[in-house]
Amino acid sequence: MNSCWQRNVRCLLRKALQSLPYSPLAVLVPQMDWRFQLWLEAGLYDLGFFPLLPSWFESGCLRGDCSRMRVIEYWTMNYTTIFLDRDGVINRKRDDDYVKHWDEFEFLPGVKEALKILTEKNYRLIVVTNQRGIARGWMTMDDLHEIHARMIGELAQSGAEIIAIYCCPHDKDQCDCRKPQTGMFLQAQRDFPDLAFTESVLIGDSLSDMQAGAALGCRNILIGPPNSNDANYDCATSLLEAVTKYQL
Ligand SMILES: [Mg+2]
Ligand SMILES: [Zn+2]
Repeated sequence: MNSCWQRNVRCLLRKALQSLPYSPLAVLVPQMDWRFQLWLEAGLYDLGFFPLLPSWFESGCLRGDCSRMRVIEYWTMNYTTIFLDRDGVINRKRDDDYVKHWDEFEFLPGVKEALKILTEKNYRLIVVTNQRGIARGWMTMDDLHEIHARMIGELAQSGAEIIAIYCCPHDKDQCDCRKPQTGMFLQAQRDFPDLAFTESVLIGDSLSDMQAGAALGCRNILIGPPNSNDANYDCATSLLEAVTKYQL
């Protein structure tokens, strides 16, 4: 796709950037330097993706702790996407409370194993989570970022890769992103232009997840008690069971 000289130019540019004590772009726009390098490495400029990059940057969804080459792969390859709700799917839900600090975050049994299996099968794993506790002042956006950084780190150690996390920090009826609304999913589609909802899977533990997935045309799987059957979605009692039962 790219000629040899273009690769060489990118390589030289990258080396030049890495040899600087600071990134020129990082000075202009803090914390963007790795993404700029990613852009160079991916050759996205050559592919005409340049107009897309600002929204990609602004969304802040791609995490610096994913390896850059993996991000490129996920961004450019045609992977099937699995959208994952967080509370009640990945970690234990707290009764009448939010996960406000890492010490309140508890992985559900089998989740690391399930996400490792999905990672090895090259699914693109995206977390989409309502976090109304921020609007209610129970925690800050920084608290949430800290929790997510640790969650991603611990999963990575188990061989599981979450490629992006979208969260809605708003209160009810204040935005178009709080599930069952579809704003977070539409943002993901802007960030991953190949993403097709009809070929994606949504796994959640509440009706609002299922409603969002139905509106988008995803295949929906509810994590819940065995008797919660509905024609509009499949059911499993855990993420691991969903992976094996539905041969994801
Ligand atoms: Mg949930
Ligand atoms: Zn929102």
